[in-house]
Amino acid sequence: MLTGSETSKGIGIGVAKILGLAELSENVSTGSVDEFFAAHLKPGTVLVANHLTPYMVAKLTDCGVSGFVCETGGMTSHSALVARSIGLPAVYGVPNATSVIKDGDTVIVDGINGFVYERPEAGLIGEFASRKERYLESRKELERFCSMKTVMADSESAQVFCNVNDIVDVMHSIDNGGEGIGLYRTENLFAEFGRAPGEEEQVRAYSRIAQAMDGHEVVIRTLDIGGDKGLPYIDMELESNPFLGYRAVRYSLGNREFFATQLRALLRASASGNISIMIPMITCVDEMREVKALIYELKSDLRDEGYEYDDNIKVGAMIETPSAAIISDMLALESDFFSIGTNDLVQYTMSADRGNRNVAYLQSLTQPAVLRLIKTTIDNAHGAGIPVSVCGEAASDPSLIPILAGMGCRRFSVNPRSVPEVRRTLSLWSVADAEKYVSDILKIPSDNEIKEYMRGAVRI
Ligand code: PEP
Ligand code: MG
Repeated sequence: MLTGSETSKGIGIGVAKILGLAELSENVSTGSVDEFFAAHLKPGTVLVANHLTPYMVAKLTDCGVSGFVCETGGMTSHSALVARSIGLPAVYGVPNATSVIKDGDTVIVDGINGFVYERPEAGLIGEFASRKERYLESRKELERFCSMKTVMADSESAQVFCNVNDIVDVMHSIDNGGEGIGLYRTENLFAEFGRAPGEEEQVRAYSRIAQAMDGHEVVIRTLDIGGDKGLPYIDMELESNPFLGYRAVRYSLGNREFFATQLRALLRASASGNISIMIPMITCVDEMREVKALIYELKSDLRDEGYEYDDNIKVGAMIETPSAAIISDMLALESDFFSIGTNDLVQYTMSADRGNRNVAYLQSLTQPAVLRLIKTTIDNAHGAGIPVSVCGEAASDPSLIPILAGMGCRRFSVNPRSVPEVRRTLSLWSVADAEKYVSDILKIPSDNEIKEYMRGAVRI
């Protein structure tokens, strides 16, 4: 048995196909990942790879694979987020998987607990086949929450929005009862084109999503490249600390024409849909002001050119760096809303790369330092009277939802498949219970002790 981090819920059983890094990267750089996967991966295959980019994972759904195992990556690496959103059983961070598992081996991928079983006995296969059945049944039971309102146990209203990568995810969001789009990650759009999409192409893509959501809010995040997300056609300088480097809003502000194209497209699309703009990786007030000044200029250009746009379009900041959380009272004066990106907030607060399995023990939302920053941010948003949501993976974790709700979060943005479970979890907690729970947790000085305390409070 091999161990990794539980990554994408579900159980997959199939026949292994090993794909090495060189083989994969060669085929991605030539842009032929679709044909490459179609040729190598048959339905029922379990893909075992050293490394998979988010784009490659998105392409795996079409091949009918049963699941996959990846040597690199952690729970909140971008590649793992895509796996979760497409609902494929997967385990990340499994050292030596490509050498221990051989082509043609039967493999069980237990994405619920983070285990991989190579060459299992028939008895174990039978046991996992039954577990898979039970898992699918429990998913079925949750379905009734898809069409329900989001209310806590004392009738306090909340909202469950969705994180999406493309129009297919938007359809899943609608099917699962998502009340809006809280985070559209535009990186996939830029990857799909194989070149930077032009203004018209972007207007079409954003409008399509806004129209599909039929007036419900759609928060579109400007390009968040860098860190573990590259684009083959953008020559990024090799950096020794890419997560601390030229990424997200920093790259956008440094490439103004490129950024202006995206902002113009977002403004134009706002004429026909309920679109808000969200800026990733804000660390200071100056960045937010610079973005807003550019938007102001672009509005005036569009007006002169006779284009329509929503003059009251909201521009919000992602709070995903400790600096942003610490000055969230000041940032709130420059932002129409906040969305807390817990994946990066944990990474930067704990100085622990979210894709590095060796420091996975630090990647925990219940680290007291992280909890304090989230509370500060929510309090400051409320103080300034602006909406605040949580869009990191923590928002879909049933054990963390009461903590976020107790701190005052009422909007959770999660991958579409998690909507019913988030709604169900919220229905089990009253505001008073959640607040008491959090006030106890905030007094505990260690992540391990907080987890211990939480185990005693599980609600089923
Ligand atoms: C986050 O950092 O929590 C987030 C939602 O953004 P991403 O995962 O795309 O970095
Ligand atoms: Mg982020």
